[in-house]
Amino acid sequence: MKKKREKSNRPNKRDSIYSMTFDELQQWLVDNGEPKFRATQIFEWLYQKRVEDFEDMTNLSKGLREKLKDSFKITTLETVVQQKSSDGRTMKFLFEMNDGYTIETVLMKHDYGYSVCVTSQVGCRIGCTFCASTLGGLKRQLESGEIVSQVLKVQRALDEQGERVSSIVLMGIGEPFDNYEEIMAFLRTINHDKGINIGARHITLSTSGIVPRIYDFANEKLQVNFAVSLHAVTNERRSKLMPVNKAFPLEKLLPSVKYYNETTGRRVTFEYGLMGGENDSVEEAQALAKLIKDYHLNIHVNLIPVNFVPERNYVRTERSQIFEFERTLKENGINVTIRREQGHDIDAACGQLRAKERKSETR
Ligand code: SAH
Repeated sequence: MKKKREKSNRPNKRDSIYSMTFDELQQWLVDNGEPKFRATQIFEWLYQKRVEDFEDMTNLSKGLREKLKDSFKITTLETVVQQKSSDGRTMKFLFEMNDGYTIETVLMKHDYGYSVCVTSQVGCRIGCTFCASTLGGLKRQLESGEIVSQVLKVQRALDEQGERVSSIVLMGIGEPFDNYEEIMAFLRTINHDKGINIGARHITLSTSGIVPRIYDFANEKLQVNFAVSLHAVTNERRSKLMPVNKAFPLEKLLPSVKYYNETTGRRVTFEYGLMGGENDSVEEAQALAKLIKDYHLNIHVNLIPVNFVPERNYVRTERSQIFEFERTLKENGINVTIRREQGHDIDAACGQLRAKERKSETR
């Protein structure tokens, strides 16, 4: 069941070698007359020693190095900008890809270690009305290797300080479940013990609520943390904030979350962005608690004070009101936290990342 999707709909020709999962690389080696165990060596060079040139893979034969060079690139991202927040805890990277499109990646320092927020698509077509990432629509999908590369690029920056990326959140630009196969390949590679080896429990995937993919993802039975952006407790309000709700309204979404709870035995996080006068009343907190109980869900609620996006009109809920919302959930027996914020001064906070149109600027 778990391996069901491996290699299914993914193209055979991969631009970056980082796009090859361990199993795909083994198959490629066999197809090219090489022993399978070379996959372990190649993974170690790529992800542990982190070389960027096939020539440096000195325990491979010259012939194999040539074949690799003919078939794949290693690096497909160029760092264009690297910015640090004033408190030094957040760094934003702007990377340019082979075709000139740029993507953003954020590194955050927490008390428990370093986490990386990766981008899953160039732009986004989900259209949430409070989010900057969707403003220019979807430009193109990312290959899994372009997502893996983001982590490696950031890890290289940390190598200089002798530090290690300890967790990953799929909460940058894009909707991971609108690029499902590549995201699954990405998860396999970063989780692989010969790869970057980040434990599944240190990885969080967040979706706007593409229901069929929630069922698929539950069936993968991965141990990764799973979050759903809820943001509203009625279809009317949610459809206004998130047009995706018209296709997948609450009566479809919530049973899929229940299925996820039951199939994986894991709790799900509801992200709830508090927007002044929109969705932040005590009645809405009560309705949220009721929804969770009515559907018998195992949920942790993460309250996000909404971040300002110049093109959008939403204002932040008052501090006292945020606490009131939190208290109401707690009183109703709901597990809840308020998200700590970082990176405002470099526009690296939730919902502030945007796909830059560098491609059209440079051509
Ligand atoms: N497409 C995925 C990942 C997106 S980003 C998803 O929708 O879940 C991660 C979180 O940031 C989501 O919960 C998203 O709704 C939230 N977000 C988007 N814009 C925001 C903003 N302006 N302020 C606060 N949170 C925002």
